Amino acid sequence: MKPKGWVSHPDDVERLVAQWQQEYPDLLAVEQVRQFTGRPVFALILGDASSGGDRTEVILEKSHAHEPAPCAAMMNLIAKLLSGRGLDGEPPPLDRDAVLQSLTLTFLPDVNPGGTERAPVKWWDGTQYTNEEFWMWMRGLNRETGRMWERYDKWDLREVDPRPATIGIVYEQVSEYEYVEPNRHHDSSLFRLLFRLMETHSYSLLMSLHQTEFVGQMEDAMVLLPILFDEQPEWIQKKEMEIGHKMIEWWDRVGGRPMKKIAPLGYSGMQADYFRRAWGNLYSQMPCVTSEVRNNSLLCPPSQQRTLSEAAAWAGIEMALRWHEQT
Ligand SMILES: [Zn+2]
Repeated sequence: MKPKGWVSHPDDVERLVAQWQQEYPDLLAVEQVRQFTGRPVFALILGDASSGGDRTEVILEKSHAHEPAPCAAMMNLIAKLLSGRGLDGEPPPLDRDAVLQSLTLTFLPDVNPGGTERAPVKWWDGTQYTNEEFWMWMRGLNRETGRMWERYDKWDLREVDPRPATIGIVYEQVSEYEYVEPNRHHDSSLFRLLFRLMETHSYSLLMSLHQTEFVGQMEDAMVLLPILFDEQPEWIQKKEMEIGHKMIEWWDRVGGRPMKKIAPLGYSGMQADYFRRAWGNLYSQMPCVTSEVRNNSLLCPPSQQRTLSEAAAWAGIEMALRWHEQT
């Protein structure tokens, strides 16, 4: 069943962004970069600039094309802040005026629309694809093993061996032969847009909204801290833990089954190196928190995937409001 007001396909996102620009020019500013394959990648910047004064800034991003719920969640949340009603018909769970007057929120609802549009479905509900099949959509097909292809930060179709039989949707094409995983390499539209925004915005919090499969587990949501958490300044660690606890509180409230443990990303080896290279500098500057919500499972239908992703975002916004009041 189609979840009410689900927007994640780039055609739908582009249409809605154009509509919002017409309807809410005082509350919404839009910046964009263009992908090599042609789609615009939007930064939707919300806030009531006329209210003046110091503002606390938060940026929320969704990196992965096989994880559509955080995009649907951000679009729903933005609708609630702009119009007072979500695309699902629900009102905002926090004081809309307080949010718009105190905070500037930058949303990157989909930094790889070129990947998203290659997905065979608008959401992954566990009824059509096994996880093995899903993973081959994600990273492409390795024809030698018949399973999913490799996970690289950046690769060149002329150099990899074996070449993938299909290109995974997680990858963003950045030149005729080159591809990147958006949150692992600075050549991605994610980082191009993020670094441009950081020239004129001063962010107090970065939230990365993700999904994963929770194979063999009953849980449907978890908090991840930066892989370099142990090396971060204490004031950043403290704020990240606050956000993590707040997220779990929100997930409990909306009927989720969150993991109670809050831990740093557990990668080692090459994947850990990718993260240190791509994010290490940012981790020393501001709190960065990741949420993971269950994907491709009968245990977590798409409407609930969106609800949980949105709850994670609201948790961050609620904490940013609190920090703002303390300054
Ligand atoms: Zn992800």
